[in-house]
Amino acid sequence: MTDKELFKSLSYERKNVYENITEEEKREMNALCDEYRAFLDAGKTERECVETALKAAQDAGYKNLDETDTLKAGDKVYKINRAKNILLAVIGKDDIRNGINLVGAHIDSPRLDLKQNPLYESTGMALLKTHYYGGIKKYQWTAMPLALHGVVFTKDGDKVTLNIGEKDSEPVFCITDLLPHLAKDQMSKSLAEGIEGENLNVLIGGMPVGDDEVKEKVKFAALKLINDRYGITERDFLSAEIEIVPAFKARNVGLDESFIGAYGQDDRVCAFTTLKGILAVDNPNKTAVALLVDKEEIGSMGNTGMLSAFFEMTVAEIAEKLIGSCTMSDFNKIISNSACMSSDVGAAVDPNYESVSEKNNAAFAGCGMVLVKYTGARGKSGSSDASAEFVYRIGKILDDDGVIWQTSELGKVDQGGGGTIAQYVANLNIDVIDCGVPVLSMHSPFEVTAKSDVYMAYRSYVAFYKS
Ligand code: MN
Ligand code: MN
Repeated sequence: MTDKELFKSLSYERKNVYENITEEEKREMNALCDEYRAFLDAGKTERECVETALKAAQDAGYKNLDETDTLKAGDKVYKINRAKNILLAVIGKDDIRNGINLVGAHIDSPRLDLKQNPLYESTGMALLKTHYYGGIKKYQWTAMPLALHGVVFTKDGDKVTLNIGEKDSEPVFCITDLLPHLAKDQMSKSLAEGIEGENLNVLIGGMPVGDDEVKEKVKFAALKLINDRYGITERDFLSAEIEIVPAFKARNVGLDESFIGAYGQDDRVCAFTTLKGILAVDNPNKTAVALLVDKEEIGSMGNTGMLSAFFEMTVAEIAEKLIGSCTMSDFNKIISNSACMSSDVGAAVDPNYESVSEKNNAAFAGCGMVLVKYTGARGKSGSSDASAEFVYRIGKILDDDGVIWQTSELGKVDQGGGGTIAQYVANLNIDVIDCGVPVLSMHSPFEVTAKSDVYMAYRSYVAFYKS
């Protein structure tokens, strides 16, 4: 063996996916990514993602767990929690007390939520007040087309679903920004302060109507339009959830179309690949579970976030319908023997900002699925830190299936950091590893992923579910 060969056998180097997959795999990747872009366009809110996932599950023969009395190996079921959170399961051949294989991802994304009483008139224009959701860079949300998605429950109890600004025939909305000519004061502020949260007001109209008795004629016009078209009054906004999101569609990026650019890829890229992963599984050995949660971007709180008891209660319900009853002892066995891939996006090294990464331990776009042993910040604080045993186990599953993967941590030590749902799954006493797809421009209105990484994430989940 030459020294060159010996060095290669002794050292570790990440691989570029495109250099290591077949033409057939490339075709499968492109077909998957065409479907992924359509998934992104169809689901720009957590509720819309649940509906998309539900339809895909029903088309694949999944039954509603609520309407199922008994379960047996091979059965496929789903359960929805409050329209914002969905769990899919394929019952395995093995005793469920030996554990389940869980993949968890989140379907909420950073955005602007309308305030409860949003509508006002100023300088002859009608606007909507917002409160941003999740960690956004506020300056990225001005001066671009925005769409309005959500639900309103009227005083009379009707549910009105809104989706305005996605079709070419529909108008869009926007948040105006200051012209550079008059931005001397604004430009001297920091990026964090240049655009203030209370200035993220959405322009929705400017044509006054009404007689001189009406003081706010533009607001009146907006209220009339909203009432004519959707049957909503200003009071009804109090019981609504309306999200302002980018109005553009997911696109291929690059002359070679190797990337996808779109809003909401954090974490719908993992949600989509998890969904496609479980749909590809029949008669697994271990019960396969896909869990798509809400509220990750604001700390996983609430009854639709990972901290909700929905997951545990649904596992107990599945066990009860499968083995007749689920005692505390049964439940403890199921949970303690389970394994989880906590799937969320990671930071890809950005060629414009290389200095925030430590490149031996950073994810590169196009180099495959990312396994993240630990997250956290400032001394791994807030991380669940997967065990060496578990990293080995997952790495072997991926290697045996020919999945190309890499490892990473989020940025240089002391540069920042973050965490996701893994820690809450780990707290239940489940073996869990953070993993997912590297993303550029994370949390921006136009996040970028490499198609090859999307494909390898999908392959990872299929391999995990089949293990
Ligand atoms: Mn995320
Ligand atoms: Mn995020």
